[in-house]
Amino acid sequence: MKYQELVDVYSNLEATTKRLEKIDIISDYLKTLDSDTIEQVGLLILGVVFPAWSSEEIGIGAKLVERAVGEAIGTTPEMVEDAVRDEGDIGLACIKLYAKKSQMTFFSKPLTIDFVFKSLQKLSKISGPRSTNRKISIILELLSQASATEAKYLTRTITEELRIGVGDGIVRDAIAQAFDIDKKVVERAQMLTNDFSVVAKTAKEQGSEGLKKLNLTPGTPVKPMLAQLAPPLDEIIPEMGCAICETKYDGIRLQVHRNKDEIKIFTRRLENITHALPEVVDLFDEHMPHEDYIVEGEVIATRDGKPLPFQNILHRVRRKHNVEEAIENVPLKLFLFDVLYYKVPMIDEALIKRRETLENIVDTSVDEMNLSTELVGTADNIPEVQKLFETSIKEGHEGIMIKDCSEGYIPGLRGKKMLKYKAEPETLDMVIIGGTYGIGKRGDFVGSYLVALRDENDDFKSVAYAATGLDDATLEYLTEKMKELEITTKGREIKVEPKIVLEIAFSEIVESPEYETGYSLRFPVVKNIRKDKSPMDADTVERLISMYNTGN
Ligand code: ATP
Repeated sequence: MKYQELVDVYSNLEATTKRLEKIDIISDYLKTLDSDTIEQVGLLILGVVFPAWSSEEIGIGAKLVERAVGEAIGTTPEMVEDAVRDEGDIGLACIKLYAKKSQMTFFSKPLTIDFVFKSLQKLSKISGPRSTNRKISIILELLSQASATEAKYLTRTITEELRIGVGDGIVRDAIAQAFDIDKKVVERAQMLTNDFSVVAKTAKEQGSEGLKKLNLTPGTPVKPMLAQLAPPLDEIIPEMGCAICETKYDGIRLQVHRNKDEIKIFTRRLENITHALPEVVDLFDEHMPHEDYIVEGEVIATRDGKPLPFQNILHRVRRKHNVEEAIENVPLKLFLFDVLYYKVPMIDEALIKRRETLENIVDTSVDEMNLSTELVGTADNIPEVQKLFETSIKEGHEGIMIKDCSEGYIPGLRGKKMLKYKAEPETLDMVIIGGTYGIGKRGDFVGSYLVALRDENDDFKSVAYAATGLDDATLEYLTEKMKELEITTKGREIKVEPKIVLEIAFSEIVESPEYETGYSLRFPVVKNIRKDKSPMDADTVERLISMYNTGN
């Protein structure tokens, strides 16, 4: 199949902002594809060549791509850099530059989807001496055969910025529509596999029944089930009837997989961090059975038995070097709270049964390995639940989680069956899309950050400028990062790629025509940089509106 056909689809998708039109375009296209191609397009349509769970990535910087574009069209990297600056994007720069392309490639074969996909995958595997030159030659081979529009989307795919306004939700709905399958079935398959190539191919070949058979595999991470804010205890506990109430630890959520002899540890963003936590791997090897499993828990850093702030644990899992030293300086403690797989998939079992299994398989005889502190709440013991909450806060934790005893585990869902009850007011995780440089002495720093939330098309829509809560070191760090992500700078205003996630506290949500969402925040304060979250994990416009309507 020709790459140009996929590129025409990209162009049509970019030309509309309407979700339903986007779904129609993708769905119509998927119906025309054979099994091998649909597997590749399942990923390429999102601008990637590896599934979400994979730690492999193309990993090519913008400068290298600019160099390759220069060589492909016979101009200097500086000319390409200028065009990128003028157009605000490598893809648009290609359109401009290819129009002037001096070496016409009359005899080249048209690019195929298969060739593009395999070449891009190959890029991630190149390392060692002369790797830059070898990468350039692969990109050059693609770019010198490409038309202007092919070059536009090729370069955007390589730099991981496809910009056609297509996210997981749209691809999910398009697969459902193309093969006449219930959206929920497609969604579940995607949450379990985190791989649209598998989902699209299975949907085409085996329809709904095939998708229903897809399940968890230890070794492949699954999107975690998420929590909503809890209403008052005396309302929610009787409503659930039976609620497992647990301490909410302020650490990092881990998913630990054992597949035969191999133990892997993933974050909630499905990042493999096994290498950073060798002592945790040992803990599981010694204190859990040698059967296949997937368990979840929170890991916290401690000193003298007390939990340390969240940032400490973050530094610990980001560590690439001197891991041994970090093990000594930042001792970790695990609190397991769920099991998703033990010999067989368990996500459809009720939580109370999963908890029972977990209690039976984990050996908590050492200080580092624990089950989350819990109690079963019912309408008759609400004061005890309140007490658990107060004790949790006193011990330096965040509050409690309230989970419906009879519910299964629904990957990726932020639903009503798992709730959080915290002492601190709620915050929103928002993405920086721009900012304003300070004046005078502060002229070198971005002092005010334009933050945005994700809409239903996975576009980021502005909500507020946040300018308080940051110390000088953080301002400097953020300014540096923003320069790396710069799209344009005009006067004191900088626009950046949406990559950095900030946790923002505020006093109130108000209506405001000044911002793209139609809402804004009163007194926004930056609480944290959420390095553990990607822009796709940020909060949504839908959540903001729901908080506005419900008052929390
Ligand atoms: P927050 O910023 O409040 O942690 P979040 O967006 O990271 O929110 P939520 O789903 O809103 O995630 O809150 C649940 C999070 O709380 C889990 O992802 C997990 O990291 C953490 N947590 C701590 N203790 C528990 C527990 N006992 N059970 C489940 N999750 C827990």
